Amino acid sequence: MTAATHIRSLPPAPPPPYLEVVDHRARAADQPAILLAALARVHHAGPGAVAVFDLDSTLLDNRPRQARILRAYGRAAGLAELEHAGPEHVDGWDLGRALRAAGLGEAETRIHAGPFRQFWRERFFTSRYCRHDVPVPGAPEFVRAVLGAGVRVAYVTGRPGVMRPGTLQVLGRHGFPLPDGASVTLLMKPGAALADEAWKRLARELVEARGTPVLVLDNEPAHVNAYARAWPGALAIHLDTDHSGRPVEVDPAIPSVADLRLPQAVLRGLTSAAEDARAGAP
Ligand SMILES: [Mg+2]
Repeated sequence: MTAATHIRSLPPAPPPPYLEVVDHRARAADQPAILLAALARVHHAGPGAVAVFDLDSTLLDNRPRQARILRAYGRAAGLAELEHAGPEHVDGWDLGRALRAAGLGEAETRIHAGPFRQFWRERFFTSRYCRHDVPVPGAPEFVRAVLGAGVRVAYVTGRPGVMRPGTLQVLGRHGFPLPDGASVTLLMKPGAALADEAWKRLARELVEARGTPVLVLDNEPAHVNAYARAWPGALAIHLDTDHSGRPVEVDPAIPSVADLRLPQAVLRGLTSAAEDARAGAP
């Protein structure tokens, strides 16, 4: 049986309720079943179905961008300790913790936390720096597999519109399907003043205008919960990477995955099916 046939044979129902409420809720052993259920869902979807993907910490890992900003701050502030700052020193959104992890002592961290926050804010939400993002493992292949099932893809991100050039560049460089004015679209926050929650609410309306949401992935507990409540017919999946630190638990029925790597056998099957389709094989 080919991987594509196997995926089509899976029921369209979501996996069973996911009850573990802990800091990291994704369990590696569950990931293949969760991602296969997602692919089954899009394979079973009717015409006009839409799959929604958040970008930061869902499809893209922005720790290399954060590390670049740390190194640039080190040069600007004359802090040699930050010269070798890398993605491994960044954990979530605690900038003080990143300064300490990269080598600053407690006293220096206290002195530099405020100026570094300002320096970071001026650079983090820019095209110039977001070009350094890398994919969450498996993300380009997973999005291509979803698009290959025949549904539309909507990237819905809290990034402001000014980051569009850098965002397109990084998506293209890493093999994500690019917006084409038809089956793939990129919805960005129209203005920095719009709060993230208000933007995601507006974005849900924009997605609904394009079709029926059947699959949605987001790392922010508040966002994935809101999607699941607004779209009970869609399969919502939480990316257990990092989040803004707000005290919100992911709803118990929403499954979590650590990344988007599919089992090798499935990937091989999808690749050969795509090659057959390109070659016009029956
Ligand atoms: Mg995100």
